[in-house]
Amino acid sequence: METPTPEVLEKLEHEALSSINAVTDLTALESLRVRYLGKKGLLTQQLKQLGKLPPDQRREAGQKVNQSKTTLQELITQRRDELEKIALSVALLRDSIDVTLPGRGSASGGIHPVTRTLERIEQIFSRLGFDIAEGPEIEDDFHNFEALNIPEDHPARAMHDTFYINSQALLRTHTSPVQIRHMQAGEPPYRVIAPGRVYRCDSDVTHTPMFHQVEGLAVDEDVTFADLKGVLRYFVREFFEEDLELRFRPSYFPFTEPSAEVDMTCVFCHGKGCRICQKTGWLEVLGCGMVHPEVFRHCDVNADRYTGYAFGMGVERFTMLRYGVDDLRLFFENDLCMLRQFR
Ligand SMILES: [Zn+2]
Repeated sequence: METPTPEVLEKLEHEALSSINAVTDLTALESLRVRYLGKKGLLTQQLKQLGKLPPDQRREAGQKVNQSKTTLQELITQRRDELEKIALSVALLRDSIDVTLPGRGSASGGIHPVTRTLERIEQIFSRLGFDIAEGPEIEDDFHNFEALNIPEDHPARAMHDTFYINSQALLRTHTSPVQIRHMQAGEPPYRVIAPGRVYRCDSDVTHTPMFHQVEGLAVDEDVTFADLKGVLRYFVREFFEEDLELRFRPSYFPFTEPSAEVDMTCVFCHGKGCRICQKTGWLEVLGCGMVHPEVFRHCDVNADRYTGYAFGMGVERFTMLRYGVDDLRLFFENDLCMLRQFR
């Protein structure tokens, strides 16, 4: 290593100045700073060499080295500012927006018609004092069948086309197990609706493997079939915003006794008879009945003290009737042309 004579320092400073002026990016500039001014940099090393000079020259040489350091430091700072300004201009140029280009536009979405119907049903029953109950979609045999008075050998099981996961677990075939869970969780009175997805191993124009149901349950002392009729009549009129009549036909469900299927005035022909109602003037829309004492027994509800009614409806069916959709599968194909009509 050479000692810091004025010639050596001048040469170093000269080299450094031309390198700094030539540099075009910030990383290279930083390398130069380290090369000359870093802890092991060339100028820093010159300071360490001062001891090798004759004593009378040390003071002056030291001042020179420090002067060089200051000069280089200032130059580097100045060059860094320049390079940063250039980098910024380049970035601004690259990211500039062409304000003359046409906009991309953003389409607003809409709520799926089935969800819309579910929300509407929930609102109407909430006004009647019903709470909303939810339960698991993977159910066990007890809640889906046994507790609803459908024992293992019952013929009604064959009608359910169940998706079994194993011998005990299955995809619920109706939302009725939610009522069982609700009754098991506390004492009457109950006043709930259970909306949700249900699954059946079935697929054609009128069936999809997954669909939505809303079931209702009201249990208290002195609940009668007349209460059931009143609630359903109110619901149907509110839902369709029309003065519709209801007709109750005796039917059979394992979990209600007596049971009835409910028809309402055809919303398309207003009872005159048309293709959709097969000239009858009536459309079947609901199933219902008084809760079977056997169901109460499974849920430890005192059947001598309490009575109750239950009803169930297909959400897709109500959606089709309200919006005049004639193919169930349209709801699940996610076709934008169809869905955009519900924005
Ligand atoms: Zn009709």
